[in-house]
Amino acid sequence: MSDTQTNGYHKNGDKRQKIGSEIDQETLNSGAEGFTAEKIFVNNPSCMGMTYDDLIVMPGHIAFPVGDVDISSNLTRNIRLQVPFVSSPMDTVTEHQMAITMALQGGIGIIHSNMTAEEQAQEVLKVKKFKNGFILDPMCLSPDATLGEVLKRKADLNFSSFPVTDTGKMGGRLIGIISNRDSAFIEDPNVKVTEFMTARDSLVVAKDGVSLEEANQILKESKKGKLPVVNDNDELVALIARTDLQKNKDNPRASKDSHNKQLLCGAAIGTRPDDKKRAQLLADAGVNVIVVDSSQGDSIYQIEMIKHLKAAHPQVDVIGGNVVTPSQAHHLIEAGADGLRVGMGIGSICTTQEVCAVGRAQASAVYHVAKYARKFGIPITADGGIQSTGHITKALCLGAGCVMMGSMLAGTDEAPGEYFYQDGVRLKRYRGMGSIEAMNAGGEKRYVWDTAQSHVKVAQGVSGAVTDKGTLRRYIPYLMQGVRHGLQDAGIPSVEASRDRLYNGALRFEIRSPAAQREGGVHGLHSYQKRLY
Ligand code: GDP
Ligand code: 5GP
Repeated sequence: MSDTQTNGYHKNGDKRQKIGSEIDQETLNSGAEGFTAEKIFVNNPSCMGMTYDDLIVMPGHIAFPVGDVDISSNLTRNIRLQVPFVSSPMDTVTEHQMAITMALQGGIGIIHSNMTAEEQAQEVLKVKKFKNGFILDPMCLSPDATLGEVLKRKADLNFSSFPVTDTGKMGGRLIGIISNRDSAFIEDPNVKVTEFMTARDSLVVAKDGVSLEEANQILKESKKGKLPVVNDNDELVALIARTDLQKNKDNPRASKDSHNKQLLCGAAIGTRPDDKKRAQLLADAGVNVIVVDSSQGDSIYQIEMIKHLKAAHPQVDVIGGNVVTPSQAHHLIEAGADGLRVGMGIGSICTTQEVCAVGRAQASAVYHVAKYARKFGIPITADGGIQSTGHITKALCLGAGCVMMGSMLAGTDEAPGEYFYQDGVRLKRYRGMGSIEAMNAGGEKRYVWDTAQSHVKVAQGVSGAVTDKGTLRRYIPYLMQGVRHGLQDAGIPSVEASRDRLYNGALRFEIRSPAAQREGGVHGLHSYQKRLY
C-alpha cells in the first residue's frame, strides 16, 4: 500500500473512489474507454461511411496466452473453418493450387469461373483428389522437348525436375526424368531431353497405391530427389518430391469434409441460365460451397439462382452477394443463402465506386450486414479491401465470420500465373474481374448483366501487379498469428467472444482522425524497410 493510501482511500480527507473489480459506469459512459460499435455506426450524426482505417479497436485485459486465441469461425450456416480466410474467385488468385493450400492451412479457396464449366469442375476435382505429399499433376515433358524448353521452364517455375512421358503429359508412359543434375553441363539448347535425361531403367519408382509413409521411406533409402509413381502399365500417376517430406506432416487445421476427409473447396458461378449447368458439374465434382458471384447481388437473377441451387443441390452451401445493406441481405437470406459476401466497390483493383457511384465504405457495410444476418444465423464474409492483419482483425471485430482476400494472396507461389521482374522487383499479375482484360477473357459475367443488350463493356476494375510474397505455407501462419495478437491485445479469446462483446457493448472502438491514422503508421523516418515476418 502506498503512503498516500489507506484501505483504498487517500489520506487528508481527500476521499477518492475505492478501486472495485470493474470500471465505474460513469467513466465507461464518458467515452474514456472508447465507444460501442452501435454508437459509431448507428447513432452516427456525421452520416459518414467508415472503413477499417477510420477505426481503431480499444485494448482489453489479457488473461490468456496468444497461442490460446481461437480464430475458428463460420463461413456459412454449415461450414466452419479453423482459420477464417477465404481466397477470392479471381483468375489471378484462385485455381486448384491456391484452393488446396488454403484448405490445408485451415481456410478455403473459391475457384474462379473465368474458364469453361468443365475446366472449373476439373479444378474442383483436383482439390478433392488431393493427397498430401503427392503431386498429382506434375509438369511433364515430351521426348521431343529440348534443353531450351527445360531452361525456359526452369526460369519461369519454382522447380527444375520434369518427368518425361511418351505423351508429354501426366498419365503418359514414363520414359525418364530431367533434373538439375542432368541438364547442368549441356550447352546446346537444341539437344533433345532424351539424350541427357535419367532414363526409365535407372529410375527408382513406386507403384500406384503406395502410402505416403512408404514413399518417404523409399526416398530416404534411395537418396533420390524425386519419386515417380506409376501404375501397372508404367504410366505416370503422381510425383513425390523429397523437399516436400517436411511439409507432408499432417496439417491438423486442414479444412476437410467430415464424410470423406477430402479437402473443402468452393467455386463461383454467375447468374445466367447456363450457370445452372455449371453448378451441376461443380456439384458432381464434390464442391462444398457455391458462391454466386455478382458485384451487386440484390437482383431477381441472383434470387432465382439461389432458389434453384438450394432446391437442386441441397448438400452444397450457397453464399450470396455481394451486398452492403441489410435490405439487400434480406432478399438473399429469404431466397435461401447459407452465407453472404459483403463488399461493394472497395477491392484494391476496383473502380466501381468511381465508375458507377454506388457502393459503401467497408467497415460500415460489414457491421450493418453482419448484425442483420446474425438474426437469421447467417454468417457473412467481409470481401475486399483487406491490406493487413489489422484489417482482418477489425473485420472480425465488426461481426464478419470470415474475410475474403484478393490482393493479399495474389503474389504468393500458389496463385495462378508466373512471377516476372519489373524494375528489379519480383511481381505477379493481379487484375480485377471487371477489368477489360479479365472481361475479354470471359469474366464479364459478374459485371455485365445482359450481353445481348450491352455492347459496350464498362470496366469496373483495373489490371496491375503485386509483389512476391513467397509461399502461402509461410504467409497464412503469419496472417493467423497477426490476428491472434490483435484479438489478444483487445482482450478477446476467440472470434465467438468478439461477437458477444461487439453486440453487448463491451468491445470498444474509436474513430481515428486523419492525423491519428498517420500517427498509427510508420512516420518520421528518413528511410525504413518493412519486413512482415
Ligand atoms: P526441383 O528439384 O528443382 O524440381 O525442386 P524441389 O524438389 O526442390 O521443389 C519443388 C517444389 O515444387 C516441391 O515443393 C513440389 O511439391 C513443388 N511442385 C509443384 N508442382 C510441381 C511439379 O510439377 N514438378 C515438380 N518437380 N515440383 C512441383
Ligand atoms: P482485394 O482483396 O484485392 O482488395 O479485393 C478483392 C475483391 O474485389 C474480390 O473478392 C471481389 O469481390 C472484388 N473484385 C474483384 N475484381 C473486381 C473488379 O474488377 N471490380 C470490382 N468492383 N471489384 C472486384
